[in-house]
Amino acid sequence: MSAVETFEVSLPDGTLKTLPAGSTSLDLAQGIGSRLAKAAVAAVVDGVETDLTVALAAGAKVSIITAESEAGRHVLRHSTAHVMAQAVVQLFVGAKFTIGPAIEDGFYYDFELPGGKTFSDTDLAAITEKMREIIKADQSFTRDEMSAKAALELFADQPYKCEIITRVTSGSADGTDASEVQGGDVVSVYRNTDSFVDLCRGPHVSTTGKLGHFALMKVAGAYWRGNEKGPMLQRIYGTAWESKAALEEHITRLAEAEKRDHRRLAVEMDLLSFPSELGGGLAVWHPKGGIVRKLMEDYSRHRHQNGGYQFVFTPHLANADLFETSGHLHFYKDGMYPPMEMDNGTYYPKPMNCPMHCLIYRDRQRSYRELPLRLFELGTVYRYERAGTLHGLLRIRGFTQDDSHIFCTEDQMADEITSLLDFVISVLRKFGFEDFEFKLSTRDPEKSVGSDEIWEKATTALREALHRHGVDYSVKEGDAAFYGPKIDIDVRDAIGRKWQLSTIQCDFNLPERFKLEYIGSDNGRHQPIMLHRALFGSVERFFGVLLEHYGGAFPTWLAPVQVRVLPVTSGHESYATKLVAQLLRAGFRVDTSVADEQLGKRIRSAKLERIPYVLVVGDDDVANETVGVNPRGGEVIRDVKFADFVKQLQDETVDLTTDATELAL
Ligand SMILES: [Zn+2]
Ligand SMILES: [Zn+2]
Repeated sequence: MSAVETFEVSLPDGTLKTLPAGSTSLDLAQGIGSRLAKAAVAAVVDGVETDLTVALAAGAKVSIITAESEAGRHVLRHSTAHVMAQAVVQLFVGAKFTIGPAIEDGFYYDFELPGGKTFSDTDLAAITEKMREIIKADQSFTRDEMSAKAALELFADQPYKCEIITRVTSGSADGTDASEVQGGDVVSVYRNTDSFVDLCRGPHVSTTGKLGHFALMKVAGAYWRGNEKGPMLQRIYGTAWESKAALEEHITRLAEAEKRDHRRLAVEMDLLSFPSELGGGLAVWHPKGGIVRKLMEDYSRHRHQNGGYQFVFTPHLANADLFETSGHLHFYKDGMYPPMEMDNGTYYPKPMNCPMHCLIYRDRQRSYRELPLRLFELGTVYRYERAGTLHGLLRIRGFTQDDSHIFCTEDQMADEITSLLDFVISVLRKFGFEDFEFKLSTRDPEKSVGSDEIWEKATTALREALHRHGVDYSVKEGDAAFYGPKIDIDVRDAIGRKWQLSTIQCDFNLPERFKLEYIGSDNGRHQPIMLHRALFGSVERFFGVLLEHYGGAFPTWLAPVQVRVLPVTSGHESYATKLVAQLLRAGFRVDTSVADEQLGKRIRSAKLERIPYVLVVGDDDVANETVGVNPRGGEVIRDVKFADFVKQLQDETVDLTTDATELAL
């Protein structure tokens, strides 16, 4: 007998594995270990994600995707979305299904129900139950490939699927379609049963039995393709994980996030509001929110002043000419407010401050001796966001950026970026963030302005700054905007959520458009490099993130009210008033509430306001110049000398002129 035919594939570490002919990635995983095979959900074969059940070719480079990896969770989530679609189609006869991608932490699927019906909570329970049946049945996800024509016939009663197939095969696909169909002439579908088949590029888990740790979260309306003129669909959001523990952890995290929701805290703590008469995505700041915002801005101004920035101010409106020059009317018009006609011109609310800073630079001839020129503005901008996407302070239509534009020579770029990175991180630390992630976005040669040389130089400068800082970073190849590479800085908050906050962006476009120049040491004219740097991003959004990060319990230096003095009875009120006056004189934010309500009730209300210190004063305190200190989240300490408390408070709160965190880096 001849030997069984075999072939070799290689693993990510370069190891070669010999497999019998016809082996799949699942066989490969099995050969490595049964635990790996159990955790496997898909594979990457020669750089392409594929199903585990596809036969491997000789020489293939294979890595196994396991359930607990990000890519693995993506496969689980998207596969669970298919199961949900099957359940919905079975339960709601005539339902049309559209798209069901995996998203961060979960998935969704959009449906159109017959007669414009909407899903109820009871429906979600029934869909969940049906999904459990499908999972228990351990149905295979069987891939099938066919021509577009055959696919159109297969989905004849699913108009949205047909629309996607047509768009892809006619070459007008967008990102939405790309998750469904790969492009080219071949359309792939995944079949679970004779009656349920979905358009999909895959990969999927091998069988529905691999799924199960999921929960359906909520229903929302969603326009088909996000188009407000298109049909309104019903979207079901779900989450899915690799284990029961991971699912439960996620649900707990959501409950914690819900408690920290900045929109809810803003109301509870009387910080700001979004009155409907004002219009969507526009906020008014109440005095207590205003205090925190002012402190954030004061601190920012102070740091910028020490960091060698010069303060500028620019108007909220500009003539269309400016945005023609800057190019915003060409590539950013959708994000701009509609124009206003007046006098002989067309005016727009500004969506960005950069063009105006370019005007300041260009106002006179600049010498290399003035560079780097660092302009800073707390500049309010207006951007059009679709109503459906507005979200408290996190997505808003009018907001203030802590915006800097730095003009420097090519040779100054590396040092400037390094010190910018230091500056950004030290300010973020001041606001309680410790966990950072850095992303470098590099050139997309298909769409970019500027020479190869300048891109290379700028990208190297950004890379070097990250290296000098000794931080890990990921590279997003080809993800840069057309005008230059950038570094994005994400932070993790107290409950592990990631927020994108700061950006350092190189720009080779605006200096060219505005014909910016400086006279070099060689007496020749040169074009400066422009760096955009937003640190908070927007003051509003940063405030929202801070509010969620701290769960409303701002550190003492930022708290709207730092101390509340509570007299036990009305007999102690004059002593309380005296303490309040002394604390105010010492520069603290302090108030009192008179003894017309029970002490316990007044303490509870101070806790709800998350005041860092409540001082309770009674007979002994009046006699001994002491206070009972009730710190937020701590144990009560009685008989503290008032002078000692003041000293402690002074030590704890920031003194902007001798701020140690500035020097810490
Ligand atoms: Zn799919
Ligand atoms: Zn800018």
